[in-house]
Amino acid sequence: MRILVLATHDQNRLLADNARIIGAAKKLGGEIDMLVVGHNVRDVAKNASKLEGVNKILLLDDKLFSRPFAQLITPLLVQLADNYSHIITSSNSVGRNIFPRLAAKLDLMPITDVIKIHSINCFDRPIYAGNAIETVKNEQAKTILTIRASEFEKVGQEKEGEGEGEGEGKIENIKIPKLAINTSFIEEYRTKSDSPDLTTASIVVAGGRAIGSKENFALVKKLAKKLNAAIGATRAAVDLGYAPNDWQIGQTGKVIAPKLYIAIGISGALQHIAGISGAKKIVAINDDIDAPMVKIADYSLIGDLNEILPDLISRLKQK
Ligand SMILES: Cc1cc2nc3c(=O)[nH]c(=O)nc-3n(C[C@H](O)[C@H](O)[C@H](O)COP(=O)(O)OP(=O)(O)OC[C@H]3O[C@@H](n4cnc5c(N)ncnc54)[C@H](O)[C@@H]3O)c2cc1C
Repeated sequence: MRILVLATHDQNRLLADNARIIGAAKKLGGEIDMLVVGHNVRDVAKNASKLEGVNKILLLDDKLFSRPFAQLITPLLVQLADNYSHIITSSNSVGRNIFPRLAAKLDLMPITDVIKIHSINCFDRPIYAGNAIETVKNEQAKTILTIRASEFEKVGQEKEGEGEGEGEGKIENIKIPKLAINTSFIEEYRTKSDSPDLTTASIVVAGGRAIGSKENFALVKKLAKKLNAAIGATRAAVDLGYAPNDWQIGQTGKVIAPKLYIAIGISGALQHIAGISGAKKIVAINDDIDAPMVKIADYSLIGDLNEILPDLISRLKQK
């Protein structure tokens, strides 16, 4: 059995997800190769090669791949598919873009958002916005998976110097497939943030509609800074312009699995809960003792957030 993992990166860094995806791949057993596609990504490939359990890196380093377009990466994966029984990646925005196309090209059904691996062909995945867990048995010739990274333990890195030339020995260059190119890159907007990444943070502080304004989100940010936490928001807060789109947690936002989730002025709608079911401990700050978020929380502070938040911030020591 051979597994191909499509590495996700931002052209400079390997995303934190990858160590968890390799953790998931190891549960399948078998030999794990990783595919790194991009432009000037040799260092990314070197870092990927140091992940424990990776057999070799297939590297395609070319200007054409300076953006992870599904239209370009899919033909490459199709070309490699014959050599592998399982092709997997993170169910982040890159995986969600490329893998349905890959599955269609291979005439297979992908199994998406996998949260548990029972065996080489049996997996759990959430359905109905996380309200039920489906166990899927794959009887197709090949298995195409996207994995919820936050649900799996990450692997470590091999010690410096263990792989030849810090991983260089494991890197194999591959050729560009025949492509009909009708996609080109025009512009990219990136949000700059000095807080931890929402999807992998161990503490997340999020605000909802009750925060009241964009300016009032400063209090949420202050609490997050004290705890060295990532900042999130509900769709209501995003739609009202209080918080940027990439902070949204939930069914149509990001899926998180922190050790601690602090939900401030958030009612706990099903679509929001769909994104936080992996949180280990939940603290709700809400003025309604009957709010669904309070019902599922491990601890609740009942009262006006405008009084509770400043008090909490002043009592906490900087982490
Ligand atoms: C197809 C679809 C997809 C969706 N996807 C998402 C998604 O991905 N993520 C998401 O979050 N939502 C999503 N939604 C929206 C979701 O249904 C809810 O409308 C939204 O989550 C509610 O946001 P909220 O909790 O901030 O607001 P509300 O539901 O209005 O809750 C505000 C809470 O704050 C409390 N409160 C009010 N004032 C104070 C105060 N002063 N102090 C303390 N507490 C106070 C209230 O008691 C209440 O519990 C989706 C909806 C649809 C239809």
